[in-house]
Amino acid sequence: MRTKKLSVKDLVTLIGSALALLVGVTVVHEAGHILAAVTYGVPFTEVNFIMVGINPGVRFPDWFSGVPHPFVPYAGGTTAALLLTAGYFLICRRYYLRQPASGTWLVGLMVMAFATEQVANAWLEGSYPGLYFSLTGINAQISDAVLATSCLPGILLHLALCPLRLLRLQTAVSYG
Ligand SMILES: [Zn+2]
Repeated sequence: MRTKKLSVKDLVTLIGSALALLVGVTVVHEAGHILAAVTYGVPFTEVNFIMVGINPGVRFPDWFSGVPHPFVPYAGGTTAALLLTAGYFLICRRYYLRQPASGTWLVGLMVMAFATEQVANAWLEGSYPGLYFSLTGINAQISDAVLATSCLPGILLHLALCPLRLLRLQTAVSYG
């Protein structure tokens, strides 16, 4: 049985998908914070875009810091995780189960890994902002380790929801 290799075109598409996903997740994440803040009465014109290290972020006006707004820090990761999960089940998984292909499988892997990473992101950002916003030192290392590890449940979920054996069956059928 031959296995189908990924072509250069497939690789370019995958890298493009990964970058598009990264940009998309960042935009949706920040939009989640902004939407939540707007529902608490922050005018959109008073939202400032900033950089936190290499990551884009948003800054709300000083008067807002005294307003109780428990959901705003959680809203970024939660919004992104919900959208990624919906996209995973409605597009990636459906497509893969209908027509198993390695490219679809890899895109699904990225989407689910991002989804669980965003859940951890919401939890860290909302419950441990001291860790999340640290750019150096042990706090930054802990935060990075938590975020990196949080992709693992997504990868395991993806392996269970989009079994690789379907790919092998498909290959077996295609190449005899
Ligand atoms: Zn955030």
